[in-house]
Amino acid sequence: MPFRDIVGHVRLIKLLSRAAAGGTLPPSLLFAGPSGIGKRLTAVALAQALNCTKRPADQSSLAVGLLADEGSLPADACGQCAACKRIARGVHPDVLIVEPGDSGAIKIDQIRDVVDRAGYRPFEGRRRVVIFDEADALVPAAQHALLKTLEEPPSSSVFILVTARPDVLLATVRSRCPQLRFRPLAAADIASVLVARGHSESEARAVAATADGSLGQALEASAGELVEARDVARRVLTHASAGQDPARRLEGAKELLVKSGAGGDSEREQLSSHLRAMASLLRDVEVLATGADDRTLANPDVRPALEKLAESYRGERGVRAFGAVDRALVALERNAGVKLVADWLVLQL
Ligand SMILES: [Zn+2]
Repeated sequence: MPFRDIVGHVRLIKLLSRAAAGGTLPPSLLFAGPSGIGKRLTAVALAQALNCTKRPADQSSLAVGLLADEGSLPADACGQCAACKRIARGVHPDVLIVEPGDSGAIKIDQIRDVVDRAGYRPFEGRRRVVIFDEADALVPAAQHALLKTLEEPPSSSVFILVTARPDVLLATVRSRCPQLRFRPLAAADIASVLVARGHSESEARAVAATADGSLGQALEASAGELVEARDVARRVLTHASAGQDPARRLEGAKELLVKSGAGGDSEREQLSSHLRAMASLLRDVEVLATGADDRTLANPDVRPALEKLAESYRGERGVRAFGAVDRALVALERNAGVKLVADWLVLQL
């Protein structure tokens, strides 16, 4: 992901971009700040900016001086070339990401390996970038092994230590790495990412408000909410398919209205997120009928449940149910009574 697509951290990213363009990047850096706010993403974007093969000519020293306007990023990756893509996938030979193994620690063997490689000139790129993610997991012996390299860095390499707990690192290591402090993200920035991923405005604001400025935390929480909504939708569909008795079906309507999760969603918002999940399941049931593979499903992780639903909702009934959900969503938007919509819907399924 290029610098320009990273959420927040505008000042730090400008700083890094200028340094990358002007060749003034320190050989080692410490990215500190809370988890889930984009430190590692920024480190990878820097690696891309340094090694992108499609940088326009004007990104060189020309643009660094007076020609660059305040808001511009003098060096940024294209995000599309082979180098950018390989860096994003973690398979570029000159961009190494070192992270804790199964033991939860970064051990000395991992360090010896990158220190050895850092001694050579880059194989393909212009600058080798070594990113230590969760650098606080470096065992003391590994930090000592790294120290010598940080003291006499090979000219073509940049070392970036990424951590939420910089104080855990040895003072000698910290003193070698200028520290960039990443701040928690603004709730509005987090909300805008969630909206881009298909959440409604008010849902996104509710999740963002409780995320402590961490986009990672917000994405996790919102994924949890979506999974919950989908569970409710699946149960209600199953319930409706099991019997025609209206009284029993109306039980299902109550479930659609049950508030779940910690978000501050209104009842209307809650019902509409259950209905959107239901529409998504019904669409997948249709997709299954065409024999398409998992990649075309919106909910491939619950394929067995979809197959079960398909027994009842394949064909005409599914199409009718999908249409009813759609009408219910429209009615909700037009301020129809929440309970009325839920009751009406379960009788149509
Ligand atoms: Zn590129």
